[in-house]
Amino acid sequence: MTQTYRPLLYIHIPYCHHKCTYCVFYSVAGRRDTEPYVDALCRELVARKTDKPLKTIYFGGGTPSVLTVRQLARIVQTIGENYNLSQLEEVTLEANPENLTTEYLTDLADMHFFNRLSIGIQSFDDAELHLLNRVHNSQQARQAVADAADAGFGNISVDLIMGLPGQTAEAWHRNLDALVGLLTISAVKHLSCYELTLEPGSILERQIAQGRVALADDDTLAAQYALLLEWCAANGFEQYEVSNFSRPGFRSRHNSRYWNRTPYIGAGAAAHSFDGTVRRWNLPDVEQYITGAASGQIPFEEERLTQDDAYNEYVMTALRTVEGIDKAMVAEPYRKGLAEKIQPFVYKALVTETPTHYRPTPSGLLRADGIAVSLFA
Ligand code: SF4
Repeated sequence: MTQTYRPLLYIHIPYCHHKCTYCVFYSVAGRRDTEPYVDALCRELVARKTDKPLKTIYFGGGTPSVLTVRQLARIVQTIGENYNLSQLEEVTLEANPENLTTEYLTDLADMHFFNRLSIGIQSFDDAELHLLNRVHNSQQARQAVADAADAGFGNISVDLIMGLPGQTAEAWHRNLDALVGLLTISAVKHLSCYELTLEPGSILERQIAQGRVALADDDTLAAQYALLLEWCAANGFEQYEVSNFSRPGFRSRHNSRYWNRTPYIGAGAAAHSFDGTVRRWNLPDVEQYITGAASGQIPFEEERLTQDDAYNEYVMTALRTVEGIDKAMVAEPYRKGLAEKIQPFVYKALVTETPTHYRPTPSGLLRADGIAVSLFA
């Protein structure tokens, strides 16, 4: 890729207190000495430095807030010494409520580096949190948001999950009511709301196989999603992606760029990187990562995307956003086929066509993944 671009930087912190039942992200559960990992991460950041100005930085996991503020400050210092931050727009830290004590939040705010906090609340119902094996309770979640705002964080995102086992539409409505209570905190600018999905290898998969829990049925999910859209419209949150909503001007810049296929550098065990053509990923093994960083050879694998892969990925991610597919982003050999394949969806009012875009309608957004597959090369 020869044009000038501003890459994204993703930092993966693969540690969690407990393993949540639905989760298959790479993370190591339980108390660990995280210092060698921070050393390794700093080494990788130095080895992969670029002078291209970074656009956004995102600390994800795992649970980045299991690191101490001192450890985060070391990583931040390494980034500052090795990367061009002159055009940095957004720096997000994912955090879980149980870590966000007032002292932690104050120290974090004093770094003057993170300007966005994404707090993994998932539910305001203690029984639902217990079912998911989350560490925090609903009171801690509310307190964490209030304390983060008090500490000076003016851009807070809240994560919720719908479609939990046994969760009726009414129970989901109670979660949304609880969220209304937090809206007096003006710093709450963003909501990510994912449907619980059954991932192979998760604890949830085993629980379902044993008949201990069951996923929500399609009707319940549709009712919950309708309530979510109603709630967002009534409370000033715009939908900009299937699962993401924000107050005007507060979309996640990192994710929006990521969906737009902007190149990104991923540092840390299991982190993915993309340069516009090649996707590479560090192996998901903390011990190998630490040893590899010490010898200057972090183990990774990579794949070169074919033109078909690149087209299919773009269609899949773009159709999940309200902007939809930008015709200018579609390579010439695919334009005619796309224009033909998408017509039935335009006819069914699931997609609207403008001179520049194919945009999903609200009903189309709900079925974005299925539509995208029909448009693949
Ligand atoms: S959902 Fe988040 S906190 Fe829970 S195990 Fe997965 S990465 Fe860790």
